[in-house]
Formats: sequence, structure tokens, C-alpha cells
Amino acid sequence: MATGTKDLYQVLGVTETASGDEVKKAYRKLAKHHHPDTNPNRPQAAERFKQIGEAYSVLSDTDKRKQYDRMRRLGAFGFARAGSGPGPARGAPSSGAPHGGGFSFEELRDFGGLGDMFSALFDRGGHRGASGGPSGNPFGPEKGGNVEYVAEISFEAAVAGDKISIEVPITEECASCSGSGAAPGLGTHRCTECGGSGTIGFGHGGFQVKRPCPACLGRGEVPDQPCLSCDTTGSVRQIRVIQVTIPRGVQGGGRVRIPGQGERGHKGGQPGDLFITFKVKPHKFFRREGLHVHVTVPINVVQATLGSKIRVRTVSGKRVVLTIPPGTQTGTRFRVRGQGIEKAGRVGDQYVEVKVEILEELSDEEQKLLEDFAAASGLKH
Ligand SMILES: [Zn+2]
Ligand SMILES: [Zn+2]
Repeated sequence: MATGTKDLYQVLGVTETASGDEVKKAYRKLAKHHHPDTNPNRPQAAERFKQIGEAYSVLSDTDKRKQYDRMRRLGAFGFARAGSGPGPARGAPSSGAPHGGGFSFEELRDFGGLGDMFSALFDRGGHRGASGGPSGNPFGPEKGGNVEYVAEISFEAAVAGDKISIEVPITEECASCSGSGAAPGLGTHRCTECGGSGTIGFGHGGFQVKRPCPACLGRGEVPDQPCLSCDTTGSVRQIRVIQVTIPRGVQGGGRVRIPGQGERGHKGGQPGDLFITFKVKPHKFFRREGLHVHVTVPINVVQATLGSKIRVRTVSGKRVVLTIPPGTQTGTRFRVRGQGIEKAGRVGDQYVEVKVEILEELSDEEQKLLEDFAAASGLKH
């Protein structure tokens, strides 16, 4: 059992109101009892001795104890009291939700090393337990983890609600070894790197930062012979091709849940879910505003002056005829009803803004005609 998953007060057998002297007394008594030198035939004693030392290093230091108490109150160690048996810490963090939902990772981060230690333990536990929920029995079936995927789609596909095919990378428990990393049928032995605790401590004297042991990947056990399917990692990475129907009119950031397409469940548990978040690429001409679509269309100076009929493309690919009345100024906006985006039974409009383009290059003849026109209409230039 990793030290960090135990309640430090329990390790020393004192109450949380115990005075500094009481903590010291409890520590001396326990340390003497579990000292490895006096227990050569009891290998668990060394582990216990280590735990006692670590608990004392925190609870005997006023500042560290205060920090620890605060985290404990926030519920960060709420799960810790569940597992008290010996053996690797597998599954322990799954056995309880934080008390009253009172803490967040933001708060934990403020604790620096403490939060670091906690998140390392949580990550490790999360592999098996986090999705199991508060009732997660570490030995029973567990639902597989959820998978998040971001799908980048075109503006048109979002508007139309196309069917697309996506390739989702999924890392999940190796089916050959059920995540143990050991060749099927063969056993495991205690990791010599971490002594079976599954974690390696960094730093000294004060609060140690715990990391999952790299030799056993935090399991505390190493396979007698590695599983060839996953190369002892216990997990395999694969690409799953999934057909998805984009919800018609979806906006960037929109999400859908595809039940059962997440990671495989453990020990007969249900698979997790796949969550797809859509990222919509901008369109060359169309801009979206809720269900309305905006587009800018150029017209020439004669169309603007004398009036005209122009054809305008809509987001659904249709072409509609728009009447430009005589004397239309640049920047005038026209509304094409019902040609916006359709979503959940509602439909927006398309707004067409005209931009009057001024003639740039004139032939000698055109130049002459325009000057005559200016003279006739009294326009100065
Ligand atoms: Zn395997
Ligand atoms: Zn190890």
C-alpha cells in the first residue's frame, strides 16, 4: 500500500486533535515496535516503519500538519480510509467520492508538492478506479473509461449535419493479460525498485513527492514473463473507426456522446462512452451568428445605381435571386428569409451585404463617356 493513500493520523494511531507530544509518543512507540532491525523475519515491518516515519515527518511539523489538515478537510484523502489491507494499492482510490464534493484540483494545486503527490496517486488510481464511481468495488466489474475526441469539420458539414467517419485513438486495457502486463498463465513478483509500494518518493526531510514507480508502472508487482501483446504496459493503443452523424446545425464546441464506444470495461464491466466535440472550420464567404448567416457580395456601380437582380448562393447550396433597387448604397444589407441555418426545427435568415465596386481601369472611350456624363449631370471632379 502506498503511504500516501493512508490517513496519516491512522498510521500513527492518534486522533486529529492529538498534541505534538502525543504524536511524538505514538511515533516512538510504533517505530520501536516495527523497526526492521528487530523484525528481520517480517518484511511488512519495513514498509510499516517507512509509513510511520513519513506520517511523523508531516504531523510533527506544524506547517505541514496544517496543510495536511486543510487538504484532509477538503476531502482530498476521503478515499484513503477505505483500503487498509496489505498489498499493492490497486483500486484504493476508487472507493469513495470526496466528502461533500468539497475540493477541486485547483485547490490542490495550491498545495504545491502535496497536490503533486496527490495527483500522482490519483492518476494511478484513475486508471482502474476513477470511472467506477463511488461504489466501485476494486474487485468487481468496472465501467471502462470515457474517451474524448475533437472532430474538425467543415462549415457546410456542420450546417447540413453530414455523416462522417472519424479515427479515434483509444488506449485501453490489454485483452490478453487483462492489464496485468504478465504473460497469461504466469504470475508476478514484487517490484524490487519500489519494494512493492508502487511509488517512488522524491525529496527528503519534509513532504515527499510521490511518483508512480517507473519499473512496475505503479503496480508494485512486475510480471514473471512479460505479456507480448502489450509489452508489459497492460494497455494497448488502437485506432477505432467510427461513423458519426453530425447534429444538423451544430456550432463549434458542440458535443455528442456515443455510448459504449469508450474504453473496454474491466472484469466484465460495461465499456465507457465516447464524447465528440466538434470544431467547425471557418468558411471562405459565410459567417455565422447563431442561426443567421452573413455574406458580403460585390456589385458594380451600374447595378447599384440603376438597380439589378443578382444571384446569391445560400449555405444549403441553393441560389436565390436578390433584387437590388436603383440607388443602392454600398454596405446596404438585404435579408433573405429562411435561408440561414436549420437547427432543432428552427431556421435563421441569410443577410447579404452589398459592396459597390468602383471602376478601376477605363478605356479612352469609357473615360470620355464618363466625363460627358459628369458634365451633363453637373458632377464636379
Ligand atoms: Zn498484455
Ligand atoms: Zn515498482
